[in-house]
Amino acid sequence: MIKLEQINKSYFNGAPLHVLKGIDLEIKKGEMVAVMGASGSGKSTLLNILGILDTYDSGNYYLNNTLIRNLSESKAAELRNQLIGFIFQSFNLINFKNAVENVALPLYYQGISRKKRNNIALEYLDKMGLKEWAEHLPSEMSGGQKQRVAIARALIANPGVILADEPTGALDSKTSEEVIQILREVNREGMTMIIVTHEQSVADATDKIIRIKDGIIESIIKL
Ligand code: ADP
Ligand code: MG
Repeated sequence: MIKLEQINKSYFNGAPLHVLKGIDLEIKKGEMVAVMGASGSGKSTLLNILGILDTYDSGNYYLNNTLIRNLSESKAAELRNQLIGFIFQSFNLINFKNAVENVALPLYYQGISRKKRNNIALEYLDKMGLKEWAEHLPSEMSGGQKQRVAIARALIANPGVILADEPTGALDSKTSEEVIQILREVNREGMTMIIVTHEQSVADATDKIIRIKDGIIESIIKL
């Protein structure tokens, strides 16, 4: 599903900063892995490359056997919309749209009619136990509810992989546990999942812990 060979990435704002220093990694379809490491070790940089949100300087990144390199912005956006679902620490919901509209958004980009996409969005909200909250704005929901809306939005376009950057970082421990169990359930239905986390309890719920230190993979522990 995902294969990285000797990925290097530097930032050049002022003094060059070599962030990823030769990452080799393979993630198979249906795997659920955690990425851990100190703040600044390159976790988000890695996730952004995997999500085709950012480019890399050297090496090879294959997603579904397609080499992801030198893509136009429109081709990158097309692959992102088709293949990848994102979940963020801060939910990244649109605050003037209600839950069903937020969940439906990826289908808007696929040109699906409002009625159809809202119906599908309602099904996904229902799966997340949020049917009654469909008409509510994000500001009316708890952190856990907002993250469940974001999970529904990540799933609605039926991506090949979910990338989550600190999905429980803004949640209390009980709510974190609920969210990780939902993600585990989604994975059991076959979804490949990569979760960046600081929390050992979150990492322990996955199949594999990839530890990054100063831009290199320090260890991979299979659970
Ligand atoms: P992590 O997610 O593990 O905390 P990041 O991947 O966000 O780490 O960042 C790794 C390093 O790269 C940090 O030193 C950070 O300051 C730097 N960095 C991240 N994004 C940028 C950017 N867009 N421009 C310049 N430096 C960046
Ligand atoms: Mg980060």
